[in-house]
Amino acid sequence: MNNHVTVLEIDANAVLHNLTYFKQKLAPKTKVLAVVKAFGYGSEAVEIAKIVENTVDYFAVAYCGEGVQLREAGIKTPILVLHPQIQNIPEIVKNRLEPNLYNFQIFDTFLKYADEAPLMNYPIHLKFNTGLNRLGFWHTDVPNILAGLKTSNNVKVVSLFSHLAASEDLREQEFTVNQINNFAYIVKQMYEHMGYEPMIHILNTSGVVNYPNAQFDMVRVGIGLYGFGNDEKETVNLKNTHTLKSIISQINIIQPGETVGYNRAFVASKVTKSATIPIGHADGISRKLGNKEGFVIINNQTAPIIGNVCMDMIMVDVTTIDCRVTDEVVLFNHQQQVEYIAHKCETIPYEVLTGLSQRIKRVVKR
Ligand SMILES: *Cc1c(COP(=O)(O)O)cnc(C)c1O
Repeated sequence: MNNHVTVLEIDANAVLHNLTYFKQKLAPKTKVLAVVKAFGYGSEAVEIAKIVENTVDYFAVAYCGEGVQLREAGIKTPILVLHPQIQNIPEIVKNRLEPNLYNFQIFDTFLKYADEAPLMNYPIHLKFNTGLNRLGFWHTDVPNILAGLKTSNNVKVVSLFSHLAASEDLREQEFTVNQINNFAYIVKQMYEHMGYEPMIHILNTSGVVNYPNAQFDMVRVGIGLYGFGNDEKETVNLKNTHTLKSIISQINIIQPGETVGYNRAFVASKVTKSATIPIGHADGISRKLGNKEGFVIINNQTAPIIGNVCMDMIMVDVTTIDCRVTDEVVLFNHQQQVEYIAHKCETIPYEVLTGLSQRIKRVVKR
């Protein structure tokens, strides 16, 4: 028997369905990079990687340690580390991870390391800033990058890439097209002087949806794999991947005038049946969902959260629901519920999913 009663179920077939959905939007030669950073958007990165490794060309993680975890689990596919730090370089090389070199500090340090090791044709990626103004070389850096690369056969540039600032927002279409054009111009300059043509890529999930002409050699799909298209018309074609479940630990009958939870935030106006569920804000259930802002599903009926969300528990109103201790409680099992939670918490599904704490047991359904 599973002694963890609060579980996040990951649906392997849904992840594969979503991957296939995005693949059919691509030209046959376009490669796919699956983004599995942040524990696979709050799920389980190693399991996600195993599910899709035969169907994708690349993985991306944010940090070195996330890539090491994949390697230690036996993942052989190339792994791009989007945001490595200078002190990670030895570990990156030891694990044959492929660093994104995004400024001259890390570029120069990596080339020096590669020279001293020495490494031969070590795969690296170069990121260009085209308007997000977060991480990446500027177009004015191109001559110095080319000069740096010229003196080295220790590294091989596998790809040149950039990242869109507002690919999901069609009001920003002009800005986005400008980013794509600026990127293409940088690539042209790099190609002219490099003597070989690395892969190029700029699209994330919403980029694939809204700017299919800019798929270039590869696309980087993150949130789409996990069931969200950042657009209702897309999301309906995707399958739910994350299901958050728990059980009822205790049922109480609350008399009128009595209260439930911290600060006595819920006051019963009539006889109320409450159920206590073992999941709280330490698990990623925001306090913004307390006081009837959020709800759970018990025996196919909705039960609003009453009072304040505690660290390890919530209480819900089950007055009209036929239920007992140990009955299943669904926090969400559909993208619309995650979107509702995100809306109530003034955030986006990305944050709801990645905010689910590691205390919650992950179970992969195949
Ligand atoms: C996170 C990330 C992605 C994935 O974005 P989605 O919107 O989840 O598809 C792609 N590229 C970079 C550089 C990222 O940081």
